[in-house]
Amino acid sequence: MAKIIRAKAAKKPSVPSVPGKTANKAAKAAASKPAKAASKPAAKKAPKPKPWTSAEVHEAFSRFRKANPEPKGELEHLNPYTLLVAVVLSAQATDAGVNRATRALFAVADTPEKMLALGEDTVRDYIKTIGLFRNKAKNVIALSEKLIAEFGSEVPRTRAEIESLPGAGRKTANVVLNMAFGEHTMAVDTHVFRLGNRTGMAPGNNVLEVELGLEKIIPSEFMLHAHHWLILHGRYICLARKPRCDVCLINDLCRWPEKTV
Ligand code: SF4
Repeated sequence: MAKIIRAKAAKKPSVPSVPGKTANKAAKAAASKPAKAASKPAAKKAPKPKPWTSAEVHEAFSRFRKANPEPKGELEHLNPYTLLVAVVLSAQATDAGVNRATRALFAVADTPEKMLALGEDTVRDYIKTIGLFRNKAKNVIALSEKLIAEFGSEVPRTRAEIESLPGAGRKTANVVLNMAFGEHTMAVDTHVFRLGNRTGMAPGNNVLEVELGLEKIIPSEFMLHAHHWLILHGRYICLARKPRCDVCLINDLCRWPEKTV
């Protein structure tokens, strides 16, 4: 095993990516390489941004609240059931794309019973403009069957029960619990994940780390709307490629070294 690791490190000697053992191995491998490769300067590890203070987090969310006291999600729905279906359909799709398909679907099927009556083929036709539509149509029918059979046709109110539904995962549960039932959950989508890391507010290697980090630092008074403030900020201001730092409400608090202000 150790032999294999040394062999890999020897191929890329100049960038020890983590401190400690790995860096030592990389350094040793670098030393064993020809002079040309070994002479490249090692990449400098970016300094860790200073964690946000409680006062800074409070200030950021106070500004979000002042600018938009009642933020709304952009996924169209008529009731908790259609919200659940819309969130399941939104995996790897945009809210706008989902809305285009669900407007017509929800007009004829806003309950699990009506969805079942439509049948999988018809549901598939309604949502065929959404990515992964075949699998999603199956899940919509299967989750509707389960809601009828096990939950009296109602969307359940616990995380475990929502996550037990076909096509629903942690993010679905967080969105439904927050938007349908007013719970203080934090759904982490691509925008929230980027913001948590980029601003330094809640850095994490995966969505769960960012979710738990945000839940830990955001005061309860902001948690009902925090998910929407962050999504909207990521979608319209802190864009992935060209963040609009000049008009960003929290540009003085943001820790991103590449911010443009
Ligand atoms: S300052 Fe720029 S990078 Fe930081 S949150 Fe605002 S838009 Fe994003």
